[in-house]
Amino acid sequence: MNYDIPFNKPFLTGKEVHYISDAVQTGKISGNGKYTKKCQDFFKNTYGFGKCMLTTSCTDALEMAAILINIQPGDEVIMPSYTFVSTANAFVLRGAKIVFIDSQNNHPGMDADLIEDAITGKTKAIVPVHYAGVACNMDKIMALANAYNLFVVEDAAQAIDSYYTFPDGTKKALGTIGHLATFSFHETKNIISGEGGMLVVNDPQFMDRAEIIWEKGTNRSSFFRGEVDKYGWVDVGSSFLPSEIISAFLWAQLENLETIQTKRIQIWQTYYEGLKDWAAQNNISMPHIPTYATNNGHMFYLVFKNTTKRAKAIEKLKSHGILSVFHYLSLHESPFYKNKHDGRQLPLTNHYSNCLLRLPMYYELSVADTNKIIKLLNEVQL
Ligand SMILES: *Cc1c(COP(=O)(O)O)cnc(C)c1O
Repeated sequence: MNYDIPFNKPFLTGKEVHYISDAVQTGKISGNGKYTKKCQDFFKNTYGFGKCMLTTSCTDALEMAAILINIQPGDEVIMPSYTFVSTANAFVLRGAKIVFIDSQNNHPGMDADLIEDAITGKTKAIVPVHYAGVACNMDKIMALANAYNLFVVEDAAQAIDSYYTFPDGTKKALGTIGHLATFSFHETKNIISGEGGMLVVNDPQFMDRAEIIWEKGTNRSSFFRGEVDKYGWVDVGSSFLPSEIISAFLWAQLENLETIQTKRIQIWQTYYEGLKDWAAQNNISMPHIPTYATNNGHMFYLVFKNTTKRAKAIEKLKSHGILSVFHYLSLHESPFYKNKHDGRQLPLTNHYSNCLLRLPMYYELSVADTNKIIKLLNEVQL
């Protein structure tokens, strides 16, 4: 079915093809060239990230993180069950056992108060996912990581241009806090390159090795800097870096980051204002932004009381040519992991899985269309 209002529409700023053709004309279109460096420098300078390395996806960046923290078979990694499959898969590929914990009752992000109970002698890392670009309780998570000597890998796939404020008032960009962090530039995210991602290495102990893993296990990067006179196979690795064609596309997006963010947050606020009374009358939860977090306009969602009520809203929108979607099927109950899950009950994960609905959210969503969606939802009797 074709929808008049799709769920997502990739936004082109207008300069993408121009920069791609520039990259092609320079004659260097493999990775780690001019546009890769421009993007990496932009991220570092804008957000204060540690070492930035573009990757072909957030999935790849997560796989690099799992290699860097040296996950061995049997190591345990704590993360929410309510997340995209790659958050877990990257660690499972290295033999990790995933210990899934539940979401918060007022936010689908993981409940930091449940982490300590899940820590054992085998725990190696905590992977907080900043759901909808809204920060997890990073103060608590970092304190636990320090106390138990664990690594923190922020899955910041949805969290570009969002911040966390520590109890002492220090405000830091998401992706600067964990030892490592990963971002996605998939076409469904705020800033896009089709497929694309980035690994942020904040802990200096990982910086040299990250470059090697990125370059197929070779010391090619130090060779090009003239630090070694031959390059060869020095570690494990894979082909994680994107071509200059992808980076050139991303650069066009980054030049327009502020405009994109302002527009998305406007749409988000229009939804919020237009739906809050109807939501209150119908027992629907609106997105919650804790005082320590910011909103980056990544996603607008509603949480219904049950699946039937959600289905009514989906049907109403669909009958007017509007696509709304839900996600994630709880990973602890997935066909692949249900027999491996430790049996922990995760009722809120299942609640979000059954009751959360995402509304269309993209740069070109017009005010008229946003208002049409609001009006139709206000007509839904639950
Ligand atoms: C989108 C997403 C990913 C995967 O990103 P890709 O770039 O498509 O690999 C991982 N984790 C979360 C939370 C995501 O939203």
